[in-house]
Amino acid sequence: MKPSLPNRVMRGAWCLILLFVTLNLRAQESTNGFAFADWLLAPLRIHLLTATNEPAIHTTLTVKDTDRILGKVNRIWAQAGITFYLESLRVEAAINASNYVENAREDERATLLALRPKDSLITNCFHVFYLKQIRPNGIYFNAQGIFVKDTASLRPVEGGLDEPIPRVTAHELGHALTLPHRQYVTNLLASGMSGGWLNEAEIKQAREAAKKKDWILPAPDVLRKADELKSSRKPAEARELFLRLQHIPLGGRERESILRQLAEPKR
Ligand SMILES: [Zn+2]
Repeated sequence: MKPSLPNRVMRGAWCLILLFVTLNLRAQESTNGFAFADWLLAPLRIHLLTATNEPAIHTTLTVKDTDRILGKVNRIWAQAGITFYLESLRVEAAINASNYVENAREDERATLLALRPKDSLITNCFHVFYLKQIRPNGIYFNAQGIFVKDTASLRPVEGGLDEPIPRVTAHELGHALTLPHRQYVTNLLASGMSGGWLNEAEIKQAREAAKKKDWILPAPDVLRKADELKSSRKPAEARELFLRLQHIPLGGRERESILRQLAEPKR
């Protein structure tokens, strides 16, 4: 029986919805055929900057927000076989917070860098500082840190991210992995848009940059170390490493073993 016109319209609508959902899922995660052995694990320290008397600095992001943000950053970076794991999360008071707005107008770079609490800066990880307001959505200052504002906003593009902060964070991490801007609409390195794609050349370049840092480790090395720690009866340290590995969005033998280790009761 030929479906009635309203039915055909409904069917068409469902097909469109399904196509849209599929495209969006695809946009959210692709591992591009990378295997466990290719995967790179990069440490990320997240700083939530607070400032009691300076609402232009004081972030209103919560620890829960950072979980969601990091999850989305990793769904983008999965296409390059890279996972950023939380080295630590610091909720900390910005230093030199007074006259922030005026100072930033004069010298944005110096003002932002001066906000960083000295005792939480280390050289062997990426640093992301979240704060309420800065002129652009995010800035990367060489090895000195990435700044992202809570109030970031982007122009939506097809298949793009559903919220700006993870996209801005992932974009700045792209700069940290040596990628320049590329103003193609759906690209992660396009300015001011919500897209998250990387092309083959960008993936290659970002991975090469990551491999040059001795604090970014291949997944098999981390797994080997975790197994060694476990055998030398250091279960807490071993667990720390298994936790880093669990975010790799791949199945397989290694994943089964990682999940088995994490399911064991803590000692
Ligand atoms: Zn940029």
